[in-house]
Amino acid sequence: MERKKSYCLICGMEKAGIPIKEDRIVHAMRWLNKNLRRVDNSMNTIVICEACYPKYSKYHKKFKSRQAAYVGIGIVFLLLGIVEMIFTKNIGAVVMGLVFIAILYAFSLLSYVPDLDIRGRMKEKIEKWKENKIKKKA
Ligand SMILES: [Zn+2]
Repeated sequence: MERKKSYCLICGMEKAGIPIKEDRIVHAMRWLNKNLRRVDNSMNTIVICEACYPKYSKYHKKFKSRQAAYVGIGIVFLLLGIVEMIFTKNIGAVVMGLVFIAILYAFSLLSYVPDLDIRGRMKEKIEKWKENKIKKKA
């Protein structure tokens, strides 16, 4: 059996680091890679290496706030749809609101940045990385 390799999500190099969380979306992306691009990377672990960590945390923060904004906009549209339904007794506006939320959600996934799988020793590691970053700045 081949040894499990770990690749950095940002620089793409074979490096050790903190693994990302294997959530539904990461699974879907692996599936797409396997079936559309014929790249089977299911054996590999995706990690964030130390050098890329500052970049990653910036991307991740940006993605999270963008996603929150999309969800906020979606909720506003849904509420407007509900208000319209109350007045017009037409469910169409609510359906439109839900479709709109689905589209926004899909759109936010275009810039998807997965969470890190921080457990046990990884927590200390990431604290050390943060310290190193601060030291480098000083
Ligand atoms: Zn890297």
